[in-house]
Amino acid sequence: MFDLALPRRVLFGPGRVAELAALLPGLGGRILLCTGRDPSRHADLLGGADPVAIKPVAHEPTVDDVRAATERARAAGADVVVAVGGGSVLDLGKAVAILLGNGTDPLDHLEVVGRGVAVQRPAVPFVAVPTTAGTGAEATANATLRSPEHGIKASIRSPHMLAAVALVDPLLTLTCPPAVTASSGLDALTQCLEPYVSPHGNPATDAVAAEGLRRGAGALRRAYEHGDDRAARAEMALCSLFGGIALANAKLGAVHGLAGVIGGMVDAPHGAVCATLLAQVVEVNVRALRERDANAPALRRYGDVARLLTGRDDATIEDGVSWLRETVAAMNVPALDAVGLRPTGFAEVAAKAARSSSMQGNPVPLNEDQLIAVLERS
Ligand SMILES: [Zn+2]
Repeated sequence: MFDLALPRRVLFGPGRVAELAALLPGLGGRILLCTGRDPSRHADLLGGADPVAIKPVAHEPTVDDVRAATERARAAGADVVVAVGGGSVLDLGKAVAILLGNGTDPLDHLEVVGRGVAVQRPAVPFVAVPTTAGTGAEATANATLRSPEHGIKASIRSPHMLAAVALVDPLLTLTCPPAVTASSGLDALTQCLEPYVSPHGNPATDAVAAEGLRRGAGALRRAYEHGDDRAARAEMALCSLFGGIALANAKLGAVHGLAGVIGGMVDAPHGAVCATLLAQVVEVNVRALRERDANAPALRRYGDVARLLTGRDDATIEDGVSWLRETVAAMNVPALDAVGLRPTGFAEVAAKAARSSSMQGNPVPLNEDQLIAVLERS
Protein backbone atom coordinates (compact mmCIF):
# COMPACT_ATOMS: atom_id res chain seq x y z
CA MET A 1 0.00 0.00 0.00
CA PHE A 2 1.37 3.42 -0.85
CA ASP A 3 0.53 6.96 -1.91
CA LEU A 4 2.34 8.56 -4.81
CA ALA A 5 2.22 12.36 -5.01
CA LEU A 6 3.05 13.79 -8.43
CA PRO A 7 2.61 17.05 -10.33
CA ARG A 8 -0.79 17.11 -12.06
CA ARG A 9 0.96 16.94 -15.46
CA VAL A 10 4.56 16.19 -16.38
CA LEU A 11 5.66 17.17 -19.88
CA PHE A 12 9.14 15.96 -20.79
CA GLY A 13 11.14 16.29 -23.97
CA PRO A 14 13.62 18.36 -25.98
CA GLY A 15 12.00 21.47 -27.42
CA ARG A 16 8.78 21.16 -25.44
CA VAL A 17 9.21 24.55 -23.79
CA ALA A 18 7.68 25.85 -27.02
CA GLU A 19 4.36 24.47 -25.73
CA LEU A 20 4.37 26.74 -22.68
CA ALA A 21 2.60 29.72 -24.27
CA ALA A 22 -0.30 27.56 -25.47
CA LEU A 23 -0.77 26.00 -22.01
CA LEU A 24 -1.19 29.22 -20.09
CA PRO A 25 -4.64 30.45 -21.18
CA GLY A 26 -6.12 27.25 -19.72
CA LEU A 27 -4.60 27.98 -16.32
CA GLY A 28 -5.27 31.64 -15.56
CA GLY A 29 -5.48 35.16 -16.87
CA ARG A 30 -2.66 37.11 -15.21
CA ILE A 31 0.77 35.50 -15.02
CA LEU A 32 3.42 36.09 -12.38
CA LEU A 33 6.79 35.20 -13.93
CA CYS A 34 9.68 34.18 -11.67
CA THR A 35 13.12 33.96 -13.29
CA GLY A 36 16.81 33.83 -12.41
CA ARG A 37 19.61 36.26 -13.09
CA ASP A 38 18.85 36.82 -16.77
CA PRO A 39 15.09 37.28 -17.34
CA SER A 40 15.57 38.38 -20.97
CA ARG A 41 16.56 34.78 -21.79
CA HIS A 42 12.98 33.71 -21.17
CA ALA A 43 11.04 36.78 -22.33
CA ASP A 44 9.72 35.12 -25.48
CA LEU A 45 8.58 31.87 -23.84
CA LEU A 46 5.18 33.22 -22.82
CA GLY A 47 4.02 34.15 -26.30
CA GLY A 48 2.06 37.40 -26.33
CA ALA A 49 1.32 37.37 -22.58
CA ASP A 50 2.55 40.34 -20.60
CA PRO A 51 3.52 38.87 -17.25
CA VAL A 52 3.94 40.52 -13.88
CA ALA A 53 7.69 40.32 -13.31
CA ILE A 54 9.52 40.31 -9.99
CA LYS A 55 13.10 40.94 -8.92
CA PRO A 56 15.15 38.02 -10.32
CA VAL A 57 16.49 35.66 -7.66
CA ALA A 58 20.12 34.59 -7.71
CA HIS A 59 20.13 32.60 -4.45
CA GLU A 60 17.79 30.47 -2.41
CA PRO A 61 14.89 32.84 -1.70
CA THR A 62 14.63 34.50 1.70
CA VAL A 63 11.39 34.92 3.61
CA ASP A 64 11.46 38.60 2.56
CA ASP A 65 11.93 37.70 -1.14
CA VAL A 66 8.84 35.50 -1.00
CA ARG A 67 6.81 38.12 0.86
CA ALA A 68 7.75 40.87 -1.60
CA ALA A 69 6.97 38.72 -4.65
CA THR A 70 3.62 37.67 -3.18
CA GLU A 71 2.63 41.28 -2.45
CA ARG A 72 3.54 42.28 -5.99
CA ALA A 73 1.50 39.38 -7.40
CA ARG A 74 -1.52 40.23 -5.22
CA ALA A 75 -1.41 43.88 -6.20
CA ALA A 76 -1.38 42.92 -9.88
CA GLY A 77 -4.10 40.29 -9.54
CA ALA A 78 -1.90 37.40 -10.69
CA ASP A 79 -3.74 34.06 -10.73
CA VAL A 80 -1.09 31.76 -12.21
CA VAL A 81 2.62 31.48 -11.39
CA VAL A 82 5.24 30.45 -13.96
CA ALA A 83 8.80 29.84 -12.72
CA VAL A 84 11.61 29.40 -15.25
CA GLY A 85 14.99 28.75 -13.64
CA GLY A 86 17.01 26.66 -11.21
CA GLY A 87 15.79 25.18 -7.95
CA SER A 88 15.79 28.51 -6.11
CA VAL A 89 13.55 30.13 -8.71
CA LEU A 90 11.17 27.17 -8.73
CA ASP A 91 10.98 27.20 -4.93
CA LEU A 92 10.19 30.91 -4.94
CA GLY A 93 7.40 30.39 -7.48
CA LYS A 94 6.03 27.42 -5.54
CA ALA A 95 5.93 29.41 -2.30
CA VAL A 96 4.24 32.42 -3.94
CA ALA A 97 1.62 30.19 -5.61
CA ILE A 98 0.66 28.64 -2.27
CA LEU A 99 0.48 32.03 -0.50
CA LEU A 100 -1.68 33.48 -3.29
CA GLY A 101 -4.04 30.53 -2.98
CA ASN A 102 -4.30 30.88 0.80
CA GLY A 103 -3.99 34.63 1.45
CA THR A 104 -1.26 33.93 4.00
CA ASP A 105 2.30 34.97 4.90
CA PRO A 106 5.42 32.74 4.58
CA LEU A 107 5.92 32.68 8.36
CA ASP A 108 2.41 31.26 8.84
CA HIS A 109 3.52 28.00 7.21
CA LEU A 110 7.31 27.88 7.52
CA GLU A 111 8.62 24.97 9.61
CA VAL A 112 11.02 25.55 12.52
CA VAL A 113 11.27 29.37 12.35
CA GLY A 114 7.61 30.05 11.49
CA ARG A 115 4.29 28.90 12.93
CA GLY A 116 4.19 25.74 10.82
CA VAL A 117 0.42 26.01 10.24
CA ALA A 118 -0.82 23.43 7.71
CA VAL A 119 -1.74 24.81 4.29
CA GLN A 120 -5.53 24.66 3.98
CA ARG A 121 -6.30 25.52 0.37
CA PRO A 122 -4.82 24.73 -3.06
CA ALA A 123 -2.19 26.96 -4.62
CA VAL A 124 -2.99 29.01 -7.69
CA PRO A 125 -1.83 26.99 -10.74
CA PHE A 126 1.96 26.73 -10.71
CA VAL A 127 4.01 25.90 -13.81
CA ALA A 128 7.60 24.77 -13.16
CA VAL A 129 10.16 24.99 -15.98
CA PRO A 130 13.61 23.94 -14.72
CA THR A 131 16.72 25.27 -16.47
CA THR A 132 19.18 23.17 -14.45
CA ALA A 133 19.20 19.40 -13.93
CA GLY A 134 19.51 18.86 -10.21
CA THR A 135 16.99 19.81 -7.57
CA GLY A 136 13.95 18.11 -9.05
CA ALA A 137 12.01 21.05 -7.59
CA GLU A 138 9.50 20.73 -10.44
CA ALA A 139 8.26 17.53 -8.78
CA THR A 140 8.54 18.25 -5.04
CA ALA A 141 5.94 19.47 -2.55
CA ASN A 142 8.09 21.86 -0.55
CA ALA A 143 9.92 25.17 -0.95
CA THR A 144 13.16 25.82 0.91
CA LEU A 145 13.53 29.39 2.17
CA ARG A 146 16.45 31.09 3.91
CA SER A 147 15.92 32.97 7.11
CA PRO A 148 19.07 35.13 7.36
CA GLU A 149 18.24 36.32 10.89
CA HIS A 150 18.06 32.71 12.14
CA GLY A 151 21.03 31.52 10.03
CA ILE A 152 19.07 28.49 8.84
CA LYS A 153 17.00 27.20 5.97
CA ALA A 154 13.48 25.87 6.48
CA SER A 155 10.64 24.60 4.32
CA ILE A 156 7.03 25.30 3.58
CA ARG A 157 5.62 21.86 2.86
CA SER A 158 2.23 20.72 1.58
CA PRO A 159 0.79 18.36 -1.01
CA HIS A 160 -0.96 21.49 -2.36
CA MET A 161 2.47 22.69 -3.53
CA LEU A 162 2.79 20.12 -6.30
CA ALA A 163 2.97 21.83 -9.69
CA ALA A 164 -0.02 21.98 -12.01
CA VAL A 165 2.47 21.45 -14.85
CA ALA A 166 6.12 20.37 -14.65
CA LEU A 167 7.53 21.19 -18.08
CA VAL A 168 10.99 19.65 -18.38
CA ASP A 169 12.88 20.57 -21.55
CA PRO A 170 16.49 19.31 -21.38
CA LEU A 171 17.57 21.74 -24.10
CA LEU A 172 17.20 24.54 -21.51
CA THR A 173 20.17 23.03 -19.63
CA LEU A 174 22.57 23.08 -22.60
CA THR A 175 24.07 26.41 -21.50
CA CYS A 176 24.66 25.39 -17.87
CA PRO A 177 28.35 25.99 -17.08
CA PRO A 178 30.41 22.95 -15.96
CA ALA A 179 30.47 23.89 -12.25
CA VAL A 180 26.66 24.14 -12.18
CA THR A 181 26.33 20.90 -14.16
CA ALA A 182 28.57 19.19 -11.59
CA SER A 183 26.91 20.44 -8.42
CA SER A 184 23.33 20.13 -9.69
CA GLY A 185 24.00 16.73 -11.28
CA LEU A 186 25.52 15.35 -8.09
CA ASP A 187 22.51 16.68 -6.17
CA ALA A 188 20.22 14.82 -8.59
CA LEU A 189 22.16 11.58 -8.07
CA THR A 190 22.02 12.04 -4.28
CA GLN A 191 18.28 12.63 -4.48
CA CYS A 192 17.85 9.29 -6.26
CA LEU A 193 20.27 7.46 -3.94
CA GLU A 194 18.88 8.59 -0.56
CA PRO A 195 15.21 7.68 -1.34
CA TYR A 196 16.38 4.33 -2.76
CA VAL A 197 17.86 3.30 0.61
CA SER A 198 15.15 5.08 2.68
CA PRO A 199 12.84 3.03 4.88
CA HIS A 200 9.96 5.14 3.48
CA GLY A 201 10.43 3.89 -0.09
CA ASN A 202 7.80 1.94 -1.99
CA PRO A 203 7.82 -0.06 -5.25
CA ALA A 204 7.09 3.04 -7.32
CA THR A 205 9.79 5.23 -5.77
CA ASP A 206 12.24 2.30 -5.99
CA ALA A 207 11.64 2.01 -9.73
CA VAL A 208 11.93 5.73 -10.33
CA ALA A 209 15.01 6.19 -8.11
CA ALA A 210 16.87 3.21 -9.60
CA GLU A 211 16.20 4.44 -13.12
CA GLY A 212 17.38 7.93 -12.15
CA LEU A 213 20.60 6.49 -10.69
CA ARG A 214 21.28 4.39 -13.76
CA ARG A 215 20.70 7.21 -16.24
CA GLY A 216 22.43 9.89 -14.16
CA ALA A 217 25.51 7.79 -13.45
CA GLY A 218 25.93 7.01 -17.13
CA ALA A 219 25.57 10.62 -18.28
CA LEU A 220 26.95 12.94 -15.61
CA ARG A 221 30.59 13.00 -16.69
CA ARG A 222 29.58 13.47 -20.34
CA ALA A 223 27.25 16.37 -19.49
CA TYR A 224 30.06 17.94 -17.43
CA GLU A 225 32.79 17.52 -20.05
CA HIS A 226 30.63 18.16 -23.13
CA GLY A 227 27.88 20.58 -22.20
CA ASP A 228 26.39 20.42 -25.69
CA ASP A 229 25.82 16.64 -25.53
CA ARG A 230 22.03 16.59 -25.90
CA ALA A 231 21.61 12.94 -25.05
CA ALA A 232 23.58 13.38 -21.80
CA ARG A 233 21.57 16.50 -20.91
CA ALA A 234 18.32 14.60 -21.47
CA GLU A 235 19.51 11.79 -19.17
CA MET A 236 20.44 14.28 -16.45
CA ALA A 237 17.07 16.04 -16.75
CA LEU A 238 15.39 12.66 -16.18
CA CYS A 239 17.70 11.91 -13.24
CA SER A 240 16.70 15.24 -11.68
CA LEU A 241 12.97 14.77 -12.30
CA PHE A 242 13.07 11.21 -10.97
CA GLY A 243 15.05 12.34 -7.91
CA GLY A 244 12.37 14.95 -7.19
CA ILE A 245 9.57 12.38 -7.48
CA ALA A 246 11.52 9.92 -5.32
CA LEU A 247 12.34 12.36 -2.53
CA ALA A 248 8.82 13.83 -2.43
CA ASN A 249 7.49 10.34 -1.70
CA ALA A 250 10.30 8.47 0.10
CA LYS A 251 12.22 11.23 1.95
CA LEU A 252 15.98 11.87 2.09
CA GLY A 253 18.82 10.87 4.41
CA ALA A 254 21.89 12.09 6.26
CA VAL A 255 23.50 13.83 3.25
CA HIS A 256 20.57 16.21 3.05
CA GLY A 257 20.22 16.40 6.82
CA LEU A 258 23.79 17.73 7.02
CA ALA A 259 23.67 19.75 3.79
CA GLY A 260 20.54 21.60 4.89
CA VAL A 261 22.25 22.80 8.07
CA ILE A 262 25.55 23.61 6.34
CA GLY A 263 23.69 25.55 3.63
CA GLY A 264 22.22 27.83 6.30
CA MET A 265 25.70 28.57 7.68
CA VAL A 266 27.94 29.01 4.60
CA ASP A 267 27.31 30.30 1.11
CA ALA A 268 28.01 27.24 -1.06
CA PRO A 269 26.01 25.51 -3.81
CA HIS A 270 23.70 22.91 -2.24
CA GLY A 271 24.73 20.25 -4.74
CA ALA A 272 28.44 20.79 -4.07
CA VAL A 273 27.88 20.33 -0.34
CA CYS A 274 25.90 17.14 -0.98
CA ALA A 275 28.63 15.87 -3.29
CA THR A 276 31.39 16.29 -0.69
CA LEU A 277 29.33 14.39 1.91
CA LEU A 278 27.91 11.61 -0.23
CA ALA A 279 30.65 8.95 -0.24
CA GLN A 280 31.37 9.47 3.46
CA VAL A 281 27.70 9.12 4.43
CA VAL A 282 27.41 5.89 2.43
CA GLU A 283 30.47 4.51 4.26
CA VAL A 284 29.24 5.50 7.72
CA ASN A 285 25.71 4.20 7.03
CA VAL A 286 27.04 0.89 5.70
CA ARG A 287 29.31 0.43 8.72
CA ALA A 288 26.45 1.23 11.13
CA LEU A 289 24.11 -1.16 9.30
CA ARG A 290 26.67 -3.99 9.32
CA GLU A 291 27.25 -3.55 13.06
CA ARG A 292 23.52 -3.97 13.70
CA ASP A 293 22.59 -6.70 11.22
CA ALA A 294 24.74 -8.12 8.44
CA ASN A 295 21.55 -9.04 6.55
CA ALA A 296 19.88 -5.64 6.81
CA PRO A 297 17.75 -4.99 3.68
CA ALA A 298 19.37 -1.57 3.28
CA LEU A 299 22.74 -3.29 2.68
CA ARG A 300 21.27 -5.09 -0.31
CA ARG A 301 20.04 -1.71 -1.50
CA TYR A 302 23.53 -0.26 -1.31
CA GLY A 303 24.71 -3.21 -3.38
CA ASP A 304 22.08 -2.32 -6.03
CA VAL A 305 23.24 1.30 -5.92
CA ALA A 306 26.85 0.23 -6.56
CA ARG A 307 25.78 -1.80 -9.61
CA LEU A 308 23.62 1.03 -10.96
CA LEU A 309 26.40 3.60 -10.52
CA THR A 310 29.22 1.54 -11.98
CA GLY A 311 27.17 -0.33 -14.59
CA ARG A 312 28.90 -3.55 -13.46
CA ASP A 313 27.01 -6.63 -12.29
CA ASP A 314 29.87 -7.70 -10.00
CA ALA A 315 30.28 -4.33 -8.25
CA THR A 316 30.50 -4.34 -4.43
CA ILE A 317 29.33 -1.58 -2.11
CA GLU A 318 32.99 -0.52 -1.84
CA ASP A 319 33.17 -0.22 -5.66
CA GLY A 320 30.16 2.09 -5.48
CA VAL A 321 31.86 4.28 -2.86
CA SER A 322 35.00 4.42 -5.04
CA TRP A 323 32.88 5.43 -8.04
CA LEU A 324 31.37 8.28 -6.03
CA ARG A 325 34.77 9.48 -4.80
CA GLU A 326 36.32 9.37 -8.28
CA THR A 327 33.37 11.14 -9.88
CA VAL A 328 33.32 13.94 -7.31
CA ALA A 329 37.10 14.36 -7.62
CA ALA A 330 36.96 14.45 -11.43
CA MET A 331 34.40 17.25 -11.30
CA ASN A 332 36.49 19.54 -9.09
CA VAL A 333 33.93 19.90 -6.31
CA PRO A 334 35.46 21.93 -3.44
CA ALA A 335 35.91 20.31 0.02
CA LEU A 336 33.97 21.59 3.03
CA ASP A 337 36.84 23.70 4.37
CA ALA A 338 37.14 25.39 0.96
CA VAL A 339 33.53 26.58 1.22
CA GLY A 340 34.16 28.06 4.66
CA LEU A 341 33.00 25.39 7.12
CA ARG A 342 35.57 25.11 9.93
CA PRO A 343 36.04 22.08 12.21
CA THR A 344 34.97 24.29 15.14
CA GLY A 345 31.49 24.31 13.59
CA PHE A 346 31.17 20.52 13.21
CA ALA A 347 29.53 19.82 16.60
CA GLU A 348 26.86 22.46 15.98
CA VAL A 349 26.15 21.12 12.47
CA ALA A 350 25.89 17.54 13.75
CA ALA A 351 23.55 18.51 16.60
CA LYS A 352 21.19 20.44 14.31
CA ALA A 353 21.31 17.83 11.55
CA ALA A 354 20.47 15.00 13.97
CA ARG A 355 17.11 16.72 14.58
CA SER A 356 16.41 17.77 10.98
CA SER A 357 13.43 16.51 8.98
CA SER A 358 15.69 15.50 6.08
CA MET A 359 17.31 12.90 8.34
CA GLN A 360 14.06 10.91 8.53
CA GLY A 361 14.81 8.82 5.47
CA ASN A 362 18.27 7.71 6.58
CA PRO A 363 18.39 3.89 6.60
CA VAL A 364 19.95 3.78 10.09
CA PRO A 365 19.93 6.30 12.96
CA LEU A 366 23.28 8.12 13.22
CA ASN A 367 24.44 9.80 16.43
CA GLU A 368 26.26 13.12 16.59
CA ASP A 369 29.70 11.43 16.78
CA GLN A 370 29.00 9.50 13.57
CA LEU A 371 27.87 12.72 11.86
CA ILE A 372 31.00 14.53 13.03
CA ALA A 373 33.08 11.66 11.57
CA VAL A 374 31.38 12.28 8.21
CA LEU A 375 32.20 16.00 8.38
CA GLU A 376 35.83 15.39 9.32
CA ARG A 377 36.37 13.25 6.23
CA SER A 378 34.56 15.62 3.86
ZN1 LIG B 1 19.42 18.13 -2.75
